[in-house]
Amino acid sequence: MAAAHSHSRFGRALSALDARIEPITQDSCAFFEDHARFDDYTGVVDETDEGRRIAEALGGAKAAILANHGLLTVGGSVESAVWWYITMERTAEVQLAATSAGSPVPIRPDVARRTREMVGSEAAGQFQFHPLWNWIVAEEPDLLD
Ligand SMILES: [Zn+2]
Repeated sequence: MAAAHSHSRFGRALSALDARIEPITQDSCAFFEDHARFDDYTGVVDETDEGRRIAEALGGAKAAILANHGLLTVGGSVESAVWWYITMERTAEVQLAATSAGSPVPIRPDVARRTREMVGSEAAGQFQFHPLWNWIVAEEPDLLD
């Protein structure tokens, strides 16, 4: 239904590495076995064919790391697509900090999978976005004018 993409700082940094989102925190589990990596960077996207190839790489996952480019997330609603983007950017930041400081301890796959089912569902994405939306509207009341 919706996609979110930008060239955020930590997403770009992670995209420059041969890396995926690792299950090293509760939040990162939202992407456990639920994101792809699109390694075929060919320059600035200016053709619909590139979008089709990214969609194929994405498959049924909620997110993709676009190599040497940034992050892309999708959702069943604008709310969840945006929330996954924000969460993925924050997760990339934490992963880069943790790997810079040492060797992160991964969460066991069965626990990561169960956690993803709780924090990574479409409903969870929508739900988690609402406090942020309420804050944005309160801070910028003329946003909707
Ligand atoms: Zn882009």
